[in-house]
Amino acid sequence: MATKIKAVQTLTTKKKLDENADDLELQKFGELAHKWWDRQSEFKPLHEINPLRLNWIDNIVGLQGKRVLDVGCGGGILSESMFFKGAEVTGIDLGEKALSVAKLHQLESGAQVNYRYIAVEQLAVEQAASFDVVTCMEMLEHVPNPEAIVQACAKLVKPGGSVFFSTINRNPKSYLFAVVGAEYILNLLPKGTHDYAKFIKPSELSAWARQVDLNVASLRGMTYNPITQHYRLSEDVSVNYLLHTVLSPS
Ligand code: SAH
Repeated sequence: MATKIKAVQTLTTKKKLDENADDLELQKFGELAHKWWDRQSEFKPLHEINPLRLNWIDNIVGLQGKRVLDVGCGGGILSESMFFKGAEVTGIDLGEKALSVAKLHQLESGAQVNYRYIAVEQLAVEQAASFDVVTCMEMLEHVPNPEAIVQACAKLVKPGGSVFFSTINRNPKSYLFAVVGAEYILNLLPKGTHDYAKFIKPSELSAWARQVDLNVASLRGMTYNPITQHYRLSEDVSVNYLLHTVLSPS
C-alpha cells in the first residue's frame, strides 16, 4: 500500500515537473542524444556557436568564480565550457538521455558540472536568488510556456545578477533561414527541429523579462554565412539572437 502511494506521488511530482515541457520536443532531443558531442552531427551548429556565446557571456560577467545555472543544458556543451572558464556550474534539463550523455562526457573531459533532472520552475522554489548568472540558450523555442521559464530564471538569479537568453526571432526571414534554409536546404538541422509558431520576437522576450524586473542590457544577433559557413555576432537580430538582462538590485 505504502509503495502504491509512493508510486502515485512520484507520478504526480513527475507530471508537475514536466508541466511546462513538450514531450515531443524532449523525445526529439532524446533520439539524438548519443550524438551530442559529435561535432559533425545535428549538434554541429551548437558546437560552432559555442565559443561566440561563451566569450560574449564571459566578457560581460567574468565567469571565473561565478555561480552559474544553465537551464536546458542538453549534453552540456555550454555548461562544460563555462566550467572551464572557472565557473561553478549547475546544468538542468528535462531530457533524461541528454543528461546521461552530459554526465558521461564529463568523466572524459574532467569538467565538474552539477547536472540535475529538475524543472526550472521547481528549482526556483528550492534555490531562489542563489545564482550570479543564469543562461537559457536555444531552449525557449521548444517549451509550451516560455514566459514561465523567463519568470523562473528571474527568481533564480541574485539581485544585480545576469540572465542570458538566446532563441529565434519570428518573421518571414527567420522562417526562411531557420526552418527552410537550415532544415531543408543546408541540412544543418534535422527536419522538424523548429516550429515557426514558437519563435519569439525580441520585443516579446524583452517584455516578459521586464515584467519580472529583468532589465534588458544588450541584444545581439548571431548570423550564419552559408558561403563561409561561419557564425558571427552581429547587429542583425532578424534570425538568431541573444539577450542579456540584469535583475534589478533589491
Ligand atoms: N542549451 C543547450 C541545448 C539546447 S537544445 C545549448 O544551447 O547547447 C534544447 C534543450 O532544451 C534540450 O536539451 C531539451 O531537452 C531541453 N528542453 C526542452 N524543453 C525543456 C524544458 N521544459 N525544461 C528543460 N529543458 C528542456
